[in-house]
Amino acid sequence: MSIEENIRRVTPYTPGEQPQKKVIKLNTNECPYPPSPRVIKALGEADWERLRLYPDPACEQLVSALADHYGVKRSQTFVGVGSDDVLSMCFLTFFAGDKPVLFPDITYSFYDVWADVYRIPYETKPLTDDFRIEARDYYGVNGGIVIANPNAPTGVAEGSGFIKDILEHNPESVVIADEAYIDFGGESALSLINEYDNLAVVRTMSKSRALAGMRVGYCFANERLIKYLNDVRYSVNSYTMNMPALVAGKAAIEDVGYFSDIVGRVKKTREWTAGELKALGFTFNESQTNFIFAKPPAPYEASDIFDKLRQSGIYVRYFRKPRIDSYLRISIGTDAEMQTFINRLKEIVL
Ligand code: PMP
Repeated sequence: MSIEENIRRVTPYTPGEQPQKKVIKLNTNECPYPPSPRVIKALGEADWERLRLYPDPACEQLVSALADHYGVKRSQTFVGVGSDDVLSMCFLTFFAGDKPVLFPDITYSFYDVWADVYRIPYETKPLTDDFRIEARDYYGVNGGIVIANPNAPTGVAEGSGFIKDILEHNPESVVIADEAYIDFGGESALSLINEYDNLAVVRTMSKSRALAGMRVGYCFANERLIKYLNDVRYSVNSYTMNMPALVAGKAAIEDVGYFSDIVGRVKKTREWTAGELKALGFTFNESQTNFIFAKPPAPYEASDIFDKLRQSGIYVRYFRKPRIDSYLRISIGTDAEMQTFINRLKEIVL
């Protein structure tokens, strides 16, 4: 008998590197622009003396701002410490049965980690060779379904009827649509929450609202699902959201103009980068996200390019995993950053 027998041991998720020196950072899909000036102002004007108090456990101001912005009820809105926390709470709450939860083999690599840590059985369904998700793979018996749409790290979005198709075939399972990248492309399933009581749509302020460091995520669903989520959340930690995150999240969601400006800029830079990569012989699906998942032309190896870029202070993401180990995931930075990246790439592959 060893102490390990009583210990929950897991293989953790590996986050992208956060180098503390200055680099061109295209490895974790952050926003290259600062948060809205209204966020900075709201934080400056916040009553910092209130830090001696616990924050509002119901997160009412943030929940109201989100509900107003998206035209849903407060009772249909849940918030968390980034969408990682929201997704983790969804796994813990919605996937408590014995049947396997289904998600694609190539997708956000946290899903299998949450399944493992919470002892949830799961099965992965292979993407097609061109990285599409087949709805019919999700018609069978299951204990829940998780679809990132647009998907990561592929950047591919499935069309409007896709989530609806999966919902129609799975009235007895909760279907999570992880829409971390939806502001950059694809069609949201949000309007379906009033029609399907088994849909949870998860979003984040980390990408399109430039708040990755503040950790604000949220989720919309039928009010019964939101109640179950809150019951679990209050059973783990009542005060997940700290006061600055509540203040910053509210200001970020209210600044609609700034949001559409930075999203527009990222999309424009993405199209420029895609053109340059194509000219260099890289192949990739059209991206609907703030990154491009691209395969270098033969004879160049993704892992070798990754190392060379890194040596020049340009960080992209490389996954040493079956099916995707010949690809690089390149987050979209500022125009200047992407120009430097392309210049360096030309030295490597030409
Ligand atoms: N879902 C997907 C598909 C992601 O790529 C990420 C970013 N790593 C997240 C969720 C989590 O983002 P955050 O916790 O910053 O909201």
